[in-house]
Order: sequence, then structure tokens, then C-alpha cells
Amino acid sequence: MRVPVPVIRSDAHLAHDGLIEFLNGTPVPCFESPARAVAIERALAADPTFVFEEPTDHGLDPILALHDPGLVTTLAEAWDDALATGMTDGLRPLLPDAFLTAAYADGHPTSRPGRSHRLWSYAFDTATPLVGGTYHAARVAVDAALTAVDRVHAGAPLAYALCRPPGHHAGPAMYGGYCFFNNAAIAAQALVARGASRVVILDIDYHHGNGSQQLFYRRDDVLYLSLHADPERAYPYYSGTADERGAGAGEGLNRNWPLPERADGPRYLAALDEALTVARDFAPDAPLIISAGFDTFHADPIADLALQTDDYRAIGAAARDLGLATVVIQEGGYAIDALGANVISLLDGLRGA
Ligand SMILES: [Zn+2]
Repeated sequence: MRVPVPVIRSDAHLAHDGLIEFLNGTPVPCFESPARAVAIERALAADPTFVFEEPTDHGLDPILALHDPGLVTTLAEAWDDALATGMTDGLRPLLPDAFLTAAYADGHPTSRPGRSHRLWSYAFDTATPLVGGTYHAARVAVDAALTAVDRVHAGAPLAYALCRPPGHHAGPAMYGGYCFFNNAAIAAQALVARGASRVVILDIDYHHGNGSQQLFYRRDDVLYLSLHADPERAYPYYSGTADERGAGAGEGLNRNWPLPERADGPRYLAALDEALTVARDFAPDAPLIISAGFDTFHADPIADLALQTDDYRAIGAAARDLGLATVVIQEGGYAIDALGANVISLLDGLRGA
């Protein structure tokens, strides 16, 4: 049955257009572009059972529940600071040229950069340009995720937040990987704030959600499950192996399934089956959060797995078998021509259509 699905969307993302990123040392047009969300929205608009809604403003508190105030303030002010100091002409995006790594900070004091460069101390890559519309878009993406949580709490079995920018690489005090605030993690935290004690995040993006892992690694109230390309070959390189299983109170509550190059639907669904078994054993008492990336698609320009459009329906159907209301949060996916069909395939699987 094609039950109506609330789709939380906004035009705010259109002003977050980074223009360039660096890939292997080369400036290239941003893969994470406004055209992605536009394409998804256009595909969903053809089906009246997808009901478009604007996000409602949830304020800063849900973001500050997980992210460092310095990160939030700096992202809010960085563009105006850069304009004031002439770092940008208003057209060029802000991309870092020096990182505060653990090795830099080891064994001696570090100084605090001035206003014009403090953004760099929160960045971890050169793929995540910031422009004038970025902070507002990131805030609205969080609001979209939280509004989707609201819809599910109001009784919808399934809601989809068309978040852009995405979120799962953003850590407590760190942005990167096209992500500024961790939309899915903030949604999970909102469920905890409403009284849940066992929330599951299922991350099906091609890339390991290092930010989500970091945020919940030592916690026993959020189980993080991630299927992704093996970090031995794939971004973000520094996390995502199977032996990263949580620590302290969170021991055993972080699970990674690194996948080989060209892993196809059957291979992927076998790993997903293991992940869903872990989810069931956790006995979740809240809606399921899915970090939904579609860069696992065989034609994705920056990835190397081999899923087909119908595989997303199978993924959705398998997750539906958990019997939980579900909040789907948009993450990556860069094969723009196929994005809409892939999103619909996943959502149809989740609603049993
Ligand atoms: Zn991704």
C-alpha cells in the first residue's frame, strides 16, 4: 500500500552552492550540489503520495545538544568574517589551507587562530566549501530532520527529510565530508530527549559516518550500524573498520560492515541482514533513523559499489521488517539522474509498496 509519506523539504539549500572542492589535489566542481536535492524533489513531486512540507524552526538547542558551541558560532559567523577581512570576494568559497591535526597539537601549546581563520580549526578536509548560504542551509537541514521526527511522533509510520547539506561526517567539534551539522544524530538525540533509551541509526551511505560513530561511541542509548566501503580504500579513510565496536557504556553498540569494491545487491543485503539482527537484539524503543545515502549506486561518480535501483526497495523492505516507524534522513548520492528513482525505491520498500 502506498501510504502517504511526509517529505520535509526547503529551498534554503539552494544558497549552499560551494562551487569547487578538492579531489586528490585537483579543484573540481562540487559533487554535493543543489542539483541533487532538486532532482530528488522533482521525482517525488510526480507522485501525490509524497506530501511536501516545510521544516519548522526548532532553534539551536537540539544542535548544541551534540555540537560544540564554538563550531556552531564559527559556522554562523565565518562568511561575514571572511567578507570583512577580504578572504573572499563574496564569490569564492571558504576552503581551509591548514588543519589542526592531533600531531600538530601533540606535546606543545597551540594558539587560537584569529577570526579570519578560526574556521580551519574545525575542518577536517578540503571537500567542504562554505559560502554565504551554508550556515542557514545547515540549520534548515537540521530542522528538516527534526520535523520528520515530529511527523513520526504524530503517528506517521514513515517520514523523509530531504536534508541538504548532509550530516553523517560531522562530529562534535568538526565539519567535513560535505557535512556541517549531523542531521541524523540530532534526530536520534531528539528521540532520546523525548524519553527513548534505545535508538538505532542505520547508516546506508557509501561512506563511513565517522561523525555519527564519534558522537555515540561511548553511549548505551544509541546503537550505530553502518554499511560502507572499506576505509582501506574509501573516504574518510580513518574510521569504519569492523573492530570499532564502541567503548565504555557503548561497548558493542557501534558496528561497522566495510564492503569490498563492486559489492552488489546480494552481497549488500547479506551484510544488512547481519546489521538488522543486531538492531533486533538491541530491542529499540523508538523510531528507526536511517542515514540514507545513495552513493552505493553502481553509477555513482565518486564511489565503487554496485547497487541497482531495485536494491534500494529490498533494503527498505528489510528495514521495514523491524516493525518500527522510520525517519529517513538524506545523506549522500551523486548520480543525479538516478537519485530520484533510488529515493523512491527505498521509500516504497519502507512503506511496503
Ligand atoms: Zn557518502
